[in-house]
Amino acid sequence: MTDTPRTPWICATRDVPLGTRLSTCAAFAALEGVAEQAKCWPRGTVLKVHFAQAAPALRERTLHAARQWLVPGVQLDIVETDDPHDAPLRVTFRPRAGNWSYVGRDCLEIRGGQPTMNLGDVSLESSDDDFNSLVIHEFGHALGFVHEHVHPDARIRWRKQAVYEDLGGEPNLWDRATVDANVFESYERSDLVATPFDPVSVMIYPIAASWTTSGKAFTPSARLSDGDAETVALLYS
Ligand SMILES: [Zn+2]
Repeated sequence: MTDTPRTPWICATRDVPLGTRLSTCAAFAALEGVAEQAKCWPRGTVLKVHFAQAAPALRERTLHAARQWLVPGVQLDIVETDDPHDAPLRVTFRPRAGNWSYVGRDCLEIRGGQPTMNLGDVSLESSDDDFNSLVIHEFGHALGFVHEHVHPDARIRWRKQAVYEDLGGEPNLWDRATVDANVFESYERSDLVATPFDPVSVMIYPIAASWTTSGKAFTPSARLSDGDAETVALLYS
């Protein structure tokens, strides 16, 4: 365990026009043949990533973190390319533009070289824990993962007004609908859950104690958790 203070961040997944929200895979995947797996990449995919206007050291650090998803047995690769038109994943590092990603194969629907992911809160000055936590999280979305706190077994009892107030202010300026969609949305289809709720998943938000009625806080792992590794292996081995 580390005592290094962590910097909270927030993230929103993006939906393609007319897409089906949360029709994703990961913790909610039925193990075979359901639409929820439609956003996962085919096994064997070499996912090419283009990093826009980033220093070589920043690109290298980001790629290294993203590749933590490639645990033994996972039949995927994540490699960098200089050609944005040859890359289904296009990453920008625009500060104050939020942290977000499209989910899995939805990235293929984004045309014209537009970004599929922004990493607004990482830089070469970020601590290793802050950097890895956020980069692994966003690449989790790119692999088809959704937020762990919408897991039906998470059962987080939110202090909703506190969350609305915190996320409605700077720097996020989220309206209630955005908070509802990204924080409070939850699955009830427990029959689709393939892996147990993992409170230290990289896919959970940093959740402040003031956001829950129990005062329980959540901090995402700064590396792939055992549960994350189990889930990605389940999906892609
Ligand atoms: Zn996220």
